[in-house]
Amino acid sequence: MSFKDLKLNKPILRAVANAGYDNPTLVQEKTIPFVLAKKDGIISAQTGTGKTAAFALPIIQSLYDQQVASKKGKKIKALVVSPTRELAVQIAENFKTYTEFTNLTSTVIFGGTSVDPQKEILKKGIDILIATPGRLLDLHKQDAINLDYVETLVLDEADLMLDMGFFDDVSKIERLCPKTKQTLLFSATIPFKVEQLANSILKNPERIEV
Ligand code: AMP
Repeated sequence: MSFKDLKLNKPILRAVANAGYDNPTLVQEKTIPFVLAKKDGIISAQTGTGKTAAFALPIIQSLYDQQVASKKGKKIKALVVSPTRELAVQIAENFKTYTEFTNLTSTVIFGGTSVDPQKEILKKGIDILIATPGRLLDLHKQDAINLDYVETLVLDEADLMLDMGFFDDVSKIERLCPKTKQTLLFSATIPFKVEQLANSILKNPERIEV
């Protein structure tokens, strides 16, 4: 299968070719179609399988198609929650690569560093936000983040997130987003706690195991 077979549009195909990817990985083949169809999903895939592009590419495609890329009044339409700063930064780098030939903007926020530069970027309006849970809630409390327009919520490395004690924070973040959103949960393993979280927030999810 090729990326073209996955019905990805030109700016994305260009970015993917630029990144040196020849063909989609298995998790991308299985995940991209139902993400484009706006369904919820629980995907068990390890890091290294290409799972970031599996959610990033269809998210970018949907936003590109909606042309939310107009300069005025950008709202956060996609939110990716990641347990650690390192993972969040990696995801953000991927989004930058894949959005290169679009007008879509993204940024990453995480704790342990000053809030002001992050607030400044958020003020300008962005389409895609990648965040660690604590800093996300903190900036939301300070009214620096509006989650009312989120269309897709991604919870990445959910098992790690729950191991780190973020169950309540993640549940809270989910409730701050609109009820109608699409939710995607990625996890290397699916222990009981992850099942519990999935059951409480996903609607008829597709299940993918890679
Ligand atoms: P991830 O599992 O998202 O951490 O991705 C692992 C690595 O695979 C990253 O360095 C990606 O840039 C790379 N990658 C993702 N998709 C593909 C693909 N279809 N072909 C080749 N490399 C890829």
